[in-house]
Amino acid sequence: MENNENNKTAIGTCWFCGQQRYVEHVTEGMDAEQINILATDECDCEEAKRARELRNSIRAVGVSIEENLGVPRVLREAIKGLLEPVAAGIAENATIKVNSQTTIKIMIKEGRLQCVKTVKDSLTVDEIGGH
Ligand SMILES: [Zn+2]
Repeated sequence: MENNENNKTAIGTCWFCGQQRYVEHVTEGMDAEQINILATDECDCEEAKRARELRNSIRAVGVSIEENLGVPRVLREAIKGLLEPVAAGIAENATIKVNSQTTIKIMIKEGRLQCVKTVKDSLTVDEIGGH
């Protein structure tokens, strides 16, 4: 591993299982909480893995929303803000009625985070994302 003066090693604790581990890429001024985030990111326990999958799916669906959803930015931002509570199970789903024809729903479907845009008139359903 490459090391320079901005790249130190420290001991961090996984949030979920409490396991301590050496983490690299610790930069000047990082506090214990930030070091624990790094340790959690690298931990192999089930909860940490699940948290990583959650974050990856939020990111992937967020990118799809930006590229494919075709709604104004302010609405995209609002929808992206709803991904985390749905992915984490804090909310079962979230629905935004854009107008009388268009509905956007964020939900877990077949175990995957999905953003589904339904346009009534054309009877099209766009399923966006899903990882
Ligand atoms: Zn852990």
